[in-house]
Amino acid sequence: MRTKIVAGNWKMNCNLDEALHLLNDLKLKDFSKADADIIIAPPYTNLYALHQNLKDSPIKLSSQNINENESGAYTGEISPDMLKSVGATYAIIGHSERRAIYNESDAKLADKATTALKHDLKIIFCIGELLEQRKADKHFEVVKAQLEKGLFHLNASDMKNVVIAYEPVWAIGTGETASPEQAQEIHEYIRQVLAEKYSQDVADQTSILYGGSVKPNNAKEIFAKKDVDGGLIGGASLDANSFAEIVMSC
Ligand code: PEP
Repeated sequence: MRTKIVAGNWKMNCNLDEALHLLNDLKLKDFSKADADIIIAPPYTNLYALHQNLKDSPIKLSSQNINENESGAYTGEISPDMLKSVGATYAIIGHSERRAIYNESDAKLADKATTALKHDLKIIFCIGELLEQRKADKHFEVVKAQLEKGLFHLNASDMKNVVIAYEPVWAIGTGETASPEQAQEIHEYIRQVLAEKYSQDVADQTSILYGGSVKPNNAKEIFAKKDVDGGLIGGASLDANSFAEIVMSC
């Protein structure tokens, strides 16, 4: 059985006070019947304080990015060891905003994956096509290439610590979602590509999340699909009620 996961990507939102408030609101929710692991990815500056406030909570912490180097002259960057030291157990890698705005290449993302795993951080590796690629019916080949270039240097045992997030770029922050059928179709394809590269066992064990305008009113339908193992949630993760509803839809 693979793990279901709902992860909240707070992006560049929440100063320290706001982050603590949001966390407190989340801690008031009853997640005891949740069928999913719950992860939040706040900005770096909030990680340590949230970690201190998460004792006895099932919520896990992720970073939104990571540097591919161990340490050294990389001004403004954050290393895996630093992230671990403030309580992160996951790192998001390859979010479409990092790919598009900060020009992170597949090769760089592959290095980030290697370094994160070497430091025992689990990774949430994001893939997904642009609108024009979807319109040109190229989404299958785009996600396959992203997997091959960014992840497939890893071995089967590394894959135990890899979560894949399929996030069609046209659905991120736009209010437009892939239909449950579109999500299922490409998640099934991703699982098949994993089976061809590694084994059916690895494919069956790997959690594949859907991301792109998941809200309380559409989460259940999307999460009900057989190859959708939860979601990576942007905007709706900034509201404790919405995020909790999404978690409970899993
Ligand atoms: C995201 O940024 O990963 C995301 C899915 O955002 P939203 O839910 O706001 O579309």
